[in-house]
Amino acid sequence: MKARTSSFRDLVHGTISAPESRYSVTGHTTPQDESETSQKRNKLLSSLMSQYLARDVPAIQKQIIHHFEYTLARTRYNMDPFGAYQATALSVRDRLIESWNDTQQYFTERDVKRVYYLSLEFLMGRYLTNALMNLGIHNQFVDALHGIGFEIEQIAHEERDPGLGNGGLGRLAACFMDSLATLNYPAWGYGIRYKYGMFEQRIKDGHQVEIPDYWLTHGNPWEIERLDVTYPVRFGGHVEHTGHGFKWTGGSIVRAVAYDSPIPGYDTYNTLNLRLWSAQPAKEFDLASFSRGDYYGAIADKETSEKISSVLYPNDSTDAGKELRLKQQFFFVSATLQDILRRFKKRKRPLTDLPTKVAIQLNDTHPTIGVVELMRILMDREGMGWTSAWTTTKRVFSYTNHTVLPEALEKWSVSLMEKLLPRHMQIIYEINRRHLEATAQKYPNDGHKLQRMSIIEDGYPKMVRMAQLAVVGSHTVNGVAAIHSGLVASRLFPDFAKDGYRIVNMTNGVTPRRWVQQANPTLAAVISRWIETDEWVVNFELCKGLEKYVNNADLQREFTESKLENKKRLAAYIKRQFNVEVSTDSLFDIQIKRIHEYKRQLLNILGVISRYNSIKRMNAEQKANVVPKVVVIGGKAAASYVQAKHFIRLINGVSNVVNNDPDIGDLLKVFFLPNYNVTLAEVIIPANDISQHISTAGMEASGTSNMKFVMNGGLIIGTMDGANIEIREEIGEDNMFVFGLHTPEIESARKQLKYGEYKVDDSRLSEAMRQIESNMYCGSSTSRPIMDALQPYNDFYLVTRDFTSYMEAIDRVDQAFKDKTSWVKKTIIAVARMGKFSSDRTIREYAEQIWDIECTPFIPGSISYK
Ligand SMILES: *Cc1c(COP(=O)(O)O)cnc(C)c1O
Repeated sequence: MKARTSSFRDLVHGTISAPESRYSVTGHTTPQDESETSQKRNKLLSSLMSQYLARDVPAIQKQIIHHFEYTLARTRYNMDPFGAYQATALSVRDRLIESWNDTQQYFTERDVKRVYYLSLEFLMGRYLTNALMNLGIHNQFVDALHGIGFEIEQIAHEERDPGLGNGGLGRLAACFMDSLATLNYPAWGYGIRYKYGMFEQRIKDGHQVEIPDYWLTHGNPWEIERLDVTYPVRFGGHVEHTGHGFKWTGGSIVRAVAYDSPIPGYDTYNTLNLRLWSAQPAKEFDLASFSRGDYYGAIADKETSEKISSVLYPNDSTDAGKELRLKQQFFFVSATLQDILRRFKKRKRPLTDLPTKVAIQLNDTHPTIGVVELMRILMDREGMGWTSAWTTTKRVFSYTNHTVLPEALEKWSVSLMEKLLPRHMQIIYEINRRHLEATAQKYPNDGHKLQRMSIIEDGYPKMVRMAQLAVVGSHTVNGVAAIHSGLVASRLFPDFAKDGYRIVNMTNGVTPRRWVQQANPTLAAVISRWIETDEWVVNFELCKGLEKYVNNADLQREFTESKLENKKRLAAYIKRQFNVEVSTDSLFDIQIKRIHEYKRQLLNILGVISRYNSIKRMNAEQKANVVPKVVVIGGKAAASYVQAKHFIRLINGVSNVVNNDPDIGDLLKVFFLPNYNVTLAEVIIPANDISQHISTAGMEASGTSNMKFVMNGGLIIGTMDGANIEIREEIGEDNMFVFGLHTPEIESARKQLKYGEYKVDDSRLSEAMRQIESNMYCGSSTSRPIMDALQPYNDFYLVTRDFTSYMEAIDRVDQAFKDKTSWVKKTIIAVARMGKFSSDRTIREYAEQIWDIECTPFIPGSISYK
């Protein structure tokens, strides 16, 4: 078997023994330009860099102890696990800094085109294990820590999971950073360093309680504060006419300070950067308020600027309409563009060349104000004319849409925009005027079309539609799964699609490093052993090699054993949480994702209730035939999303009744696992036999947890929605349990239900609803709104309409699970055919079809540090 443990890094380190060859002056510098001092300095640097950190166990131990004593100022004779974690993290970070500086210098000298991924969310998960595995030094650190009395699992467990995202959108950004680094693309991530990330969810008396997540309490060893990288960001003020142009002035200034985290790729020296901005008071003081004598007032005013990066907004899929949220968006976009332009301007060239060196991806509409800010900079600061500024801007930006739900599309009132960003509002009006003028020329006498395509929505109040702005200001728009991209073109932006705007599909993916190699070491070992390589970690298509052994009893047994290990791990977690023992022979049935009406956790729990009812009616002989099941549900509800919180209460109520019913025993157990996040996902997902992705058709853009689950050897019960459709295409219809209405049927089904033209007739459903109504599972403050939602005229998400079909699919799951051999064969085939859903494939598509950037692996000995 070919092992690739850190071959590339060893190669680079191998060259370090000959420092002159690595850091000698190369073709990129012109020696005659160099002064004697700079030559001396370079020589000194070269000799220092030959001392890059060693990778053997004693050296690693020395570095950890060194950080414990000198960085943390602790004594080595009193080492606690958290201190050991911090010292370990710092010593890993040191190594990352080496390759990160080299990589950035390399990109700069090669003058490559970079992509900048702008996202208001990065749901990175813990860093330590990921960094060690990507760097190929996991084993050394295991031994090093063991030698000083710690186990790596224990140390890794000390890390706070930085929850700087809500769910799929933020996790996508994180998977993309991993793939960009691994594939050696020149890329940066940009976002906000929130002080408070996603809230911590606790359950009290069955209800969700939100605890603020102040994740920085003990610092963050993975980030580097860049007090020298700061930019001013203006809010408010007014626009002055300067004779030949416009100038935005006055208002207040906030300072954006950069915090960088190195992002290592797997088995490559390349290391990327995630730059998150923190808001601080500007240095400039308003002398007027000081001379008025209001010293404390003036300081309090300054302090409010820090609020901008204070808290991550919850995504409740409706426009929160918060002024602070718009401020966050402009804050991070403005700082990012200043940073990008500073980098671009290091070389003398016209700004119209910007698109040859810079691609900017907008992760949803959140950073869309960047289109306008770049126009403002190019025109007002750089003196470019409109046409050339617009052409340049459009060639730089591209936009990823994440939802077709109309209520989830961002809009800002014109008056708010005028107050916070007066110059930008002017520019938006002018973009819109030109856009509508051109459209009217093509389609005279079609006022409705103009209304639909307009960036400004007429009404009271007038609104700026960020999605329209993003489409008009980008060269390419993409959806995140085939069906979703189709709907983006046909339902959301049909006029733009017909008018030749480029709308493409980039089906999402997830990184097999975090989601298989790290989360599921036992399965990872099985795959590597059978396909005789661990290359699948960077080429997930290679898992295809498993398929030819699908009938091999040894492989089947190893798959089953690996699954059992993972189920034991989750069972132990459940035992710790609830003090309940579950049987690992049970079918583990899992639905973890944000709690939302469209994701239909309600359908899941109605199914659970009716399973409970049917078991209750059984005699012993019938019971012997039941597939025992452990139902796991998890996810956070946005703090303001009342109905989603009712779902959580109901699930906990059902859990309470079922788990305490002596008639049921091991046949059914139900758990709501609190505080779903990346770390918990890494424990839950590998244990799945089946996972639920049961959104109302047409409503889930892609879903990515569906991919993680199948890659981990489980099957899906799901609707024909999002990426489920493509997963089924790849793994085969026999290996997925599909049910429910299809997207084209939804609208008319909704009407039929509403107007009584279709009546749902299922005694299991009526029984479950009667029980809910009688407050058997929870009080009326929960059961009433849930019953309301299930009335035919209210059932927008078609929970009752899809119920019977759903229950049929559950039966098919039970039948299939009874045949253990046939089941494990299905899971082997499914894993083998998931190659498409690696985010490496997704990123290659973006790179080739949207960004036009090239793989740029670091070549040892090639940088000059001039
Ligand atoms: C993958 C992931 C998601 C996305 O889940 P979906 O089921 O696709 O909505 C959300 N949260 C976390 C922590 C994840 O890892």
